[in-house]
Parts: sequence; structure tokens; C-alpha cells
Amino acid sequence: MRIGVDLGGTKIEGILLSPTGEIAEKIRVDTPTQNYLDTVDALCDVIDRLQELSSSKKCTVGIGTPGALSSTNEHGLELMKNCNSICLNGEPLKFDVEKRLGYTTRMENDANCFALSEACYGAALSSRTVFGVIVGTGTGGGIVIDKQLHTGPNRIAGEWGHNCVPSSVRELIAQDRECYCGRKNCNETVLSGRGLKQSHLERTGVELEATEISRLASTGNSAANETIQVYCKQLARCLSTVVNLLDPDMIVLGGGLSNITQLYTQVPSLMAEHVFTENMRTILSAPKFGDASGAIGAACLWPID
Ligand SMILES: [Zn+2]
Repeated sequence: MRIGVDLGGTKIEGILLSPTGEIAEKIRVDTPTQNYLDTVDALCDVIDRLQELSSSKKCTVGIGTPGALSSTNEHGLELMKNCNSICLNGEPLKFDVEKRLGYTTRMENDANCFALSEACYGAALSSRTVFGVIVGTGTGGGIVIDKQLHTGPNRIAGEWGHNCVPSSVRELIAQDRECYCGRKNCNETVLSGRGLKQSHLERTGVELEATEISRLASTGNSAANETIQVYCKQLARCLSTVVNLLDPDMIVLGGGLSNITQLYTQVPSLMAEHVFTENMRTILSAPKFGDASGAIGAACLWPID
């Protein structure tokens, strides 16, 4: 058994994962609001409870987090960066968790964990090169090649959410959009739930949550449907840059907006128009796992022993 924990902005979900990818146990608790030390406590508590539930020897522990660990500070500690749960930024999360637990863990970005879960046990099981994308509260990405996560020296591989949108996407929004990272017009400002909400507001003057826009579009509401059509173009154009760079066998979408069914029927052909090949073979897939993907991928940070 391996333990995987997904530290989310609102929930901490921990699982015991069997060698064949089944979830044997699951624990879900609320993430303490904007308090770092309480978050460490809650995270370690979930891990301790899962260790007790496993009847075997001590399990390996993988943790998926928002953001990433940065290079080390003057005390040799890796500090968190780029988290949209900003109370984690600048904190030595891995160090503090391991100090409390008394053993080593592996920690990765939640989009990386998502990509790994789909490559190891999910929709991309038979694909060699996989780009996993989360379009939800934020926009993240992870790269898995031959079931191995590609991370890189800056620990940002796949962080395409903070590339600037192509000019062909900038044309589809009314005005520049500020990103929480301090830059302007990042892919995330257009492709996240908040981005979709903003696009709908710009087009119609009506403020609706992304889930509501998606629901209305599926019931044939023409204004919502047009916003989703524009979103499909935006996503296709942003993803085409990934295909030109990485040429993945499969792109798997995750996060709240991955439930929009039109994405799978419309984005591939729209994307092919912008990709530097004829007959684009890259497949766009819905995820196999829903909310559990972060925890499954976190468990997969360790090999099966
Ligand atoms: Zn940004």
C-alpha cells in the first residue's frame, strides 16, 4: 500500500492505494483556512490515521500541493512558491511535515500528481507522453513520459497556466487580465473558472459562476453556449502551443471545467488548425478519476515496492 494525500485549497484528501490502483481507504477533512501551522497539523493527522489503517508495514507517503517547492534557502530548506493557497508560500512545508512525521515523504505540484494518476492508472494508461491539464480554480499542467514525471531544475515543468496567452487568444478577450502571479494575460486568466466567468461577463454583462455557465450551455441557453464556444477556441489555441513543443500522445483534462462535454467534441479540430502538422494525432481525453486523482497521483510519486 502507498499513501497519497492531496492538499487542496478547501479539502485535504488522503488515500491508501493498492498496487493495482484501487483506493482501499479514503479520508477527507477541511483544509484549515489560511493558517500554515494548522494546515501542517491537519495534513500530518490524515497521514497518521492512514498509517494506522494500513495493516502492513509503514507506507510510503506522497503529497500533492498547490504550487511547488523552490530551490533551497540559506538554511538549506526548500520553501513553497507559486501556491494559490498563499499561506503556504515561503514556508518549508516538506521539512515541517517530515519533522512532525519522522520520515521522508515526496511532494509534488497537484497538476503533476493529476498527470501521473491518469498516466499510471487512468485515461492515459497506454500513452507514452502525457500532458495533464487542470482547468478549475487555477490552470496547471504536468508532463509524464513513460510513467515518469518530468519536473526540471526549476520544478515548474508543465506550468503552462502562466504562459502569456497567444495573440490569437488575446483578441478574444475585451481587456488585459491581471494574474495573481503578478503578470498579465496568463493562460490561467482565461482558462480557469474565474477566466470563463470573466469572459461571459465581458460578452453578456451577466455575472455567472463557471459551473452555471456550463450548465446553462448544456440546456441550450444561447448566450452561455456562445461563451463556451469562445472558451473552446481559447483552450484550443493555448493547447496548440503545448502540442508544438511537447507533441504528447494524449492531453488529459482535469479540474472542474473538464466536465464541459463540448470541449472533447470541439477542441481537437480547433487545436489542429494551430498545430504545425497535418492530421494531428494527439488525443484530448476526459479524466478517468475525478476528485481522487490528486491523491492517487501523489501515491504514485513512489514506486510500488
Ligand atoms: Zn500568472
